Amino acid sequence: MIIVISGPSGVGKGTVVAELLKKDAALVRAITCTTRQPRKDEKDGRDYYFLSEEKFFDLVKKKKLAEFAFVHGNYYGTPIESILQGKDKDVVLQIDTQGAKRIKSLFPEALLIFLLPPSIDALAKRLLKRGTETEEEREKRLERANKEIQERMFYDYIVLNDDLHRASEEIEKIIQYERVLRKKKTR
Ligand code: ADP
Ligand code: 5GP
Repeated sequence: MIIVISGPSGVGKGTVVAELLKKDAALVRAITCTTRQPRKDEKDGRDYYFLSEEKFFDLVKKKKLAEFAFVHGNYYGTPIESILQGKDKDVVLQIDTQGAKRIKSLFPEALLIFLLPPSIDALAKRLLKRGTETEEEREKRLERANKEIQERMFYDYIVLNDDLHRASEEIEKIIQYERVLRKKKTR
């Protein structure tokens, strides 16, 4: 199963997905590509494949990306290969709303989950606490957050990330339920 998790920058996608991966050995995270600069604690091939624009568009030209989008001033894209590793596992894609729509059109059975912040104010605080962007970049991300939140109705599930433990447990249950549903359908 392909599981897409979207939500505004700073809502906690990375943190929640890390929790899910710790607890569920049948899940694997798809590493995606970006032209953004790595943050201090990010590693190439672990967090993203960090690429120059030239290398990124080489992949686009060679049709190696299932989707790509321009987000917060940088390009991001999902390698087809990173989705296909999900043959025996369920693959989690942490991508934006444009990417989610594209993945749903390519793989209609994909499970789409939107992670919602308790408020824009809480989101701003989380971004500030993470401390990985300049004030200008944070503003850009917050500006986009409202637009992204408006896209939530497109998703199969909307999960409020008020408390990390509670939200991760809710997503775990959704995944377990969807696994059972999909098994029933293929019988
Ligand atoms: P995203 O991947 O969506 O951009 P991150 O996972 O990097 O967001 O989380 C942004 C910040 O918010 C991090 O500092 C993280 O520790 C914090 N965070 C995540 N979930 C919660 C939560 N439920 N309550 C408070 N802080 C949270
Ligand atoms: P960040 O710079 O905070 O890591 O990510 C910014 C946004 O890009 C987030 O919404 C993230 O989910 C999204 N993103 C990451 N990888 C991809 C991808 O491969 N495709 C698309 N469409 N969005 C992505």
